[in-house]
Amino acid sequence: MFIDGEWRGAASGATFDSTNPATGAVIASVPDGGRADAQAAIAAAERAFPAWSATTAYQRSDYLRRAWQIMMDRRDELAKRMTEEQGKPLKAARGEVVYGADYLLWFAEEAKRLYGTTIPSSRADQRFIVSHMPVGVVAAITPWNYPMSMLTRKIAPALAAGCTVVLKPAESTPLCAVDVIKVLAEAGLPKGVVNLVTAKDPAPIGQEFVTNPAVRKITFTGSTKIGRMLATQAMSGLKRVSMELGGHAPFIVCEDADAVHAAKGAPLVKFLNTGQACISPNRFLVHRSKVEAFQNEFKARMLKMKAGSGFDDAVSIGPLINEAAIAKIDRQVKDAVAKGATLLCGGSRLTDNGLDKGCFWAPTLLANVTPEMLIYREETFGPVAPVIAYDSEDEALRMANDTHYGLAAYVYTPNLARAMRLYEGLRFGIIGINDINPTSAAAPFGGMKDSGMGREGGREGIADYLEVKLGGFAI
Ligand code: ADP
Repeated sequence: MFIDGEWRGAASGATFDSTNPATGAVIASVPDGGRADAQAAIAAAERAFPAWSATTAYQRSDYLRRAWQIMMDRRDELAKRMTEEQGKPLKAARGEVVYGADYLLWFAEEAKRLYGTTIPSSRADQRFIVSHMPVGVVAAITPWNYPMSMLTRKIAPALAAGCTVVLKPAESTPLCAVDVIKVLAEAGLPKGVVNLVTAKDPAPIGQEFVTNPAVRKITFTGSTKIGRMLATQAMSGLKRVSMELGGHAPFIVCEDADAVHAAKGAPLVKFLNTGQACISPNRFLVHRSKVEAFQNEFKARMLKMKAGSGFDDAVSIGPLINEAAIAKIDRQVKDAVAKGATLLCGGSRLTDNGLDKGCFWAPTLLANVTPEMLIYREETFGPVAPVIAYDSEDEALRMANDTHYGLAAYVYTPNLARAMRLYEGLRFGIIGINDINPTSAAAPFGGMKDSGMGREGGREGIADYLEVKLGGFAI
């Protein structure tokens, strides 16, 4: 753990193992922090806050730019660590390291653009100015599926704004977090500005975060269930919250779309991180006239995908994170088939050729999916693509919006008017129009409804770390 500028063990002396999800092998052990460690980290962040928040935007920008350079210089090493601990193919891991570094550079620049405003007053003797202040100590909780970029997406804007940070990463990927914090430490950040508490049991750390009065903001990426609980608790202390939660993205293939082109994009986004992404499409809504062409191409592409260790260049399907992920997928697929869905490919766990040591699931295509099936509403977080046929644009829009979630949605159509109608009608925070990667450090990422609140990245991503301060000057 990294507390007050020092690498140290847990107060209790306990440790826990981090394992490789492709092989089950132990990689290393890390400190198993508890509530006392979280308290020490928050106290360090609180002590560091006055001096850090008094630095100039240019100084903070320099630190972030240095961290960006170190992260880019180290991208191969960081990517290997990610593949080893999280499982995604090395090429995808490299992509994530660069995406993670992008946030450091983007917010190094945004730090210098924390503009305020002046407001005309109705009184001749009065002047109004509005400026922005950092909220204070930020507590961040991050997930295992993007174990480096989700850290910089929170830490970079917090530091740029002048906040200090305590991070608790996911228990499945603590080593990725250690490596990211090393990058920040080597950039020369003053002690206490960034702190890391690793823990096997997240609950006591989370309790300290939401109840400690020194923490002024909680930023969380993870499940809707835990996010809702933490947000509710944080509210009683009137802490700011940003929540990036689950999703259930529709992928709409319109009547006028090139179904084969859409089916080339579909696997790229569906199998991203083996389906373990909150923006992963969870329902393919395809116009009835295009279903056959779409499914044929999609299936052909799925059958060519190889599962295995992310260190094998031919592999595009890495392991799932744990047995619980396999059990959830198994339940959803069995339920769909029992209720009348047709299994076009996949549908089972993969165990041949040494895959039994990890949690691998075959890319799965389900046809004739209906609203009665669990998969129609529940987030899957795995390599399963359910196809639902529709007959009219209104019906597609109604089905797409028929979810408690509201993170990402995708549309394939060459018709500009239709694209605009769907862009406007879809109740989601991120809409990809003929685009399967509508994300960037420069653009706001976040969801509506049960997918959360607040935005990360873009101009919006730093606003969540700032208080607005009004000055009224009588002259
Ligand atoms: P997932 O099911 O995808 O693992 P979680 O919401 O359980 O999603 O995990 C996301 C992050 O939330 C992880 O860092 C995890 O340790 C943390 N977390 C899980 N439960 C709690 C809790 N009770 N309090 C605080 N953090 C938690």
